[in-house]
Amino acid sequence: MRQIDHFIVGGAGSSARTHDIFNPNEGTVQAQVALGDAAQLDKAVQAALAAQPAWAATNPQRRARVMFKFKELVEANMDALAHMLSSEHGKVIADSKGDIQRGLEVIEFACGIPHVLKGEYTQGAGTGIDVYSMRQPIGIGAGITPFNFPAMIPMWMFGVAIACGNAFILKPSERDPSVPMRLAELMLEAGAPEGILQVVHGDKEMVDAILDHPAIAGVSFVGSSDIAHYVYNRGVAAGKRVQAMGGAKNHGIVMPDADLDQVVNDLAGAAFGSAGERCMALPVVVPVGEDTAERLRAKLIPAIEALNVGISTDPAAHYGPVVTQEHKNKVEGWIAKCAEEGGELVIDGRGFSLQGYEKGFFVGPTLIDHVTPDMDSYHNEIFGPVLQIVRAPDFETALELPSKHQYGNGVAIFTRNGHAAREFAARVNVGMVGINVPIPVPVAYHTFGGWKRSAFGDTNQHGMEGVKFWTKIKTITQRWPDGSPDGGNAFVIPTMG
Ligand code: NAD
Repeated sequence: MRQIDHFIVGGAGSSARTHDIFNPNEGTVQAQVALGDAAQLDKAVQAALAAQPAWAATNPQRRARVMFKFKELVEANMDALAHMLSSEHGKVIADSKGDIQRGLEVIEFACGIPHVLKGEYTQGAGTGIDVYSMRQPIGIGAGITPFNFPAMIPMWMFGVAIACGNAFILKPSERDPSVPMRLAELMLEAGAPEGILQVVHGDKEMVDAILDHPAIAGVSFVGSSDIAHYVYNRGVAAGKRVQAMGGAKNHGIVMPDADLDQVVNDLAGAAFGSAGERCMALPVVVPVGEDTAERLRAKLIPAIEALNVGISTDPAAHYGPVVTQEHKNKVEGWIAKCAEEGGELVIDGRGFSLQGYEKGFFVGPTLIDHVTPDMDSYHNEIFGPVLQIVRAPDFETALELPSKHQYGNGVAIFTRNGHAAREFAARVNVGMVGINVPIPVPVAYHTFGGWKRSAFGDTNQHGMEGVKFWTKIKTITQRWPDGSPDGGNAFVIPTMG
């Protein structure tokens, strides 16, 4: 059995506990990952402490060159990385490449770090006084990442953190840790000094050790909301800066004037791509008006029936298995619950079996109509290939649904009416909005982050928000007296009056 160990300078020693990693196509165990503890984390922290000052003192252009080289290496290894990712996660190869590519786009942003780290300067803020600011790395940062984007989300974090001059300790999901390990090896090959990017594996025990370690200055977390909230509270109580992204239940509002063929095409990819295991999936569609609902439903049914569920290496598959049997059970449990609550099960994906892969963790595409906001299955994240239809009589009701939902990650509106779109974007209580764009994941030089229970903390991922998170600002007020007495009164607070 393949064993996956920590990536810590000098080795970590063996871990008493391990976690099984599945092949979700076959339903078999393919490897075991070590589950570490506080003592192993401390080894990584000591190595990071030793390496970080020299890295911070390395000029930003040289740090950026490591990022350029890393991008080249990841591109050269794209096929192997995508196969590795797909074999543990279950997303199809083309989608795995997308996962890696979206992370690389943050690395491209990080290649420009010298420019964004320039501070501000005011000459002559007072007589003979200049004020300037500089952004300095926070020291040691940690990232705790979910299973669903094992390449992109680690790169969101370490790309910016390391380019800013920090050392970084990554704790990837214990369900698919191989790609994060390979990324750390490639960073070393790209020229990052030893100790600048390390990987520790584990579960709650390791996460708690990270949150409690006094030498870790900042923690970035992405995962489910209850854990995000816990991580935020515990990390902040320990005096760290923390950003903690949580779950989602994104809505797609379909106005009566929308191009329904386009909408159905967009919805099929956004609701079922990656088996619905995306925090920016669109699992709820809200047609406005009964006529829109009926027309949409009539077009959705054949489109969903035509979806091809297959193993993750099948180029003809639209999506593959979900990540574990436990997760498959959870998704199927929510489908059952939604039907019990009164939803109309139009297409039922439970009990789906793929010939030759009967033990794989597959869930067939599912469509449920007449879902209402009082249902638990609407209130909660299902995170599977399940699309719920919530009918709204008018625009105001449709606007209210995502605005009042506990999650506020992404939302989309489909319309040809610019005024409605503009009004919606301005008023909806959600962090990322798509206008005729089903998955509005912002590009790397903008920033990613939801509202409400989709994100705790006040800075987003990547872009300038990421730079702010991974640096602290220092402001210097300088005066070089010319020797003549200034006659000022040192007992009164200086003002610019
Ligand atoms: P998860 O919350 O189970 O795990 C996330 C991380 O937390 C993992 O590294 C895991 O080891 C760790 N963890 C698990 N249990 C813990 C505990 N009790 N205490 C401390 N740490 C613990 O999430 P997941 O299932 O890996 O990922 C899916 C979730 O992530 C979904 O809710 C999805 O919406 C969310 N997500 C959010 C975003 C976003 O940006 N908002 C992006 C991707 C995924």
